[in-house]
Amino acid sequence: MTGESTTPSIWHGIPVSPGIQIGKLYIYDPAQTTISRRFIRRGEIEQEKTRLADAIAKAKESLLDLRGKVVQSLDEAHASIFDPQLMLLEDPLLLDRTYERIEQQQQNAAMAFTSVVQQFADQFASLTTDSYIAGRKVDIMDLGKRVSQLLASADPETTNSLQFTEDVIILASDMSPSDTAQMDHQHVKGFATELGGPTSHSAILAKALEIPCVVGLGRVLQDARPGQVAIIDGYEGQIVLDPDQRELARAKSRRRRHLAYERDLQKLRTLSAETVDGFRVELAANVELPIEIPHVLAHGAEGVGLFRTEFQYLERAGLPTEEDLFIVYKKVVESVAPHPVVFRTIDLGGDKFLSTLQTAREVNPFMGLRAIRLCLAHPGVFKTQLRALLRASAFGNARIMFPMISSVREVLQAKAILDEIRDDLRREGRPFNEEIQIGIMIEIPSAAVCADSLAREVDFFSIGTNDLIQYTLAVDRGNEQVASLYDPFHPAILRLIRTTIDAAHRQGIWVGLCGEIAANPLCALLLVGLGINELSMGALAIPEIKRLIRGIRLADARRICEEIYSLRTSSDIHAYVREAYRSIQRQRRKSPVVGTS
Ligand code: PEP
Ligand code: MG
Repeated sequence: MTGESTTPSIWHGIPVSPGIQIGKLYIYDPAQTTISRRFIRRGEIEQEKTRLADAIAKAKESLLDLRGKVVQSLDEAHASIFDPQLMLLEDPLLLDRTYERIEQQQQNAAMAFTSVVQQFADQFASLTTDSYIAGRKVDIMDLGKRVSQLLASADPETTNSLQFTEDVIILASDMSPSDTAQMDHQHVKGFATELGGPTSHSAILAKALEIPCVVGLGRVLQDARPGQVAIIDGYEGQIVLDPDQRELARAKSRRRRHLAYERDLQKLRTLSAETVDGFRVELAANVELPIEIPHVLAHGAEGVGLFRTEFQYLERAGLPTEEDLFIVYKKVVESVAPHPVVFRTIDLGGDKFLSTLQTAREVNPFMGLRAIRLCLAHPGVFKTQLRALLRASAFGNARIMFPMISSVREVLQAKAILDEIRDDLRREGRPFNEEIQIGIMIEIPSAAVCADSLAREVDFFSIGTNDLIQYTLAVDRGNEQVASLYDPFHPAILRLIRTTIDAAHRQGIWVGLCGEIAANPLCALLLVGLGINELSMGALAIPEIKRLIRGIRLADARRICEEIYSLRTSSDIHAYVREAYRSIQRQRRKSPVVGTS
């Protein structure tokens, strides 16, 4: 496996699933079935409608079959990624519009269906700039392909060529969730795609299956040949084609190092995140989709510190019913029990636009009808979610958290609605946890400043620094042109965090932090020093932060915090914390603390 005579070609993308593998490339180009798209005669209309109904029935059958296979090879949670496609097949709008085209525009079934699917996919992708939501376009297109292939009398199962007799690394323009699920997991050692985002279903599945995966590589296929030797690096997010001896040796040694490091970190899985002098921090995970739960628990999360509930709303054409939501929430609390799950009520608005709820486009949506504001403006929608959450609380350790709180008034309004729901459920004799904890996100500066008043109204706070930073520093979190100003070490941010933690503790409530900075080791060090009770982050970062916490003393972290508040610039603060942490590490190497590695 050498590419001695050729120069290696290195492509960089987005790392989505860690691991390094060396293997032969298999270039996946899903057989493009030629689908005849044509106009039909009046007399053919009924026949085309029947053909469409048959194809839809068969697509449903094959999806259910595929779903069953995934339940067997993984679990129910992973199999549920096919549910949006199954739901879409039942969507009356999709069918009505297709029939309309067949009847009124006299298009054949394939032409009508693919056009409507394309329309749906475009609308979906244009709803938001959120990469997760835009990624659902792949599901819709996957369904379009499946039904079209059936219409062309091609059996989708027989066009699958992802079974192998030797180990391969797959390279493709894009991979749909069904491609990923059908792939031969024994021989596929990694896969890389030109397109795709980090939160696409394929990426999530790759992570769950622990297959190294890199997406968003750009036009790598132009350089690739079948059978060519390649290195896939899911840590750095790169693929090396025709690696030379140097690249191969480097990859092997990096792989050995990473495996040893991960084995080492994995030993911490069952240990608690406790400082050397006994201060305990709960490490929880941020979750967007129920299918992430097994992965989250495998990384030693002690619960879910932030369950973003928006996705159950954004994945479908209409609003979910109470029963739809209850089924999801119940499954989640049951699988995480006895650990807690903090369900954040919908944070729609901002960059997550839902046409069923938001009719007017806003000029400044991040400052507009977002999250709790939207819920208070649509109490019916809010009540449906609260009923589902309270009912699910009977099955595990659920907590409820309100996002985007800017004043005590909003908390009182939200709690009043929750009290109404409690009364209704009691009257109906439906069980729920009467002691359920209610919390709020502190992610707007006014909430941090008034944290003492807010703390009297709730059981916990979770600091949302992703938004707190953008609102405090007036820096759009999604705008790369001001990315250098998006600064967690800004003194204003650190002061607001301290104010919030102190206010919570004075009132005797716990306080967590669920913004991205929870996974930043230097920030985590400061947060421990400030006395944070819980840190919630992407599951992959948990072992690393646990190791950090187990290697420091609360007393040292506190001392560092005392110093930084006298420093005036973010760069001074950052440099000071970095140096202080290095010195702790040096000290530890000299006199290691037993049981912390
Ligand atoms: C935050 O704002 O820090 C947060 C966790 O919420 P989101 O990223 O969903 O806005
Ligand atoms: Mg937020």
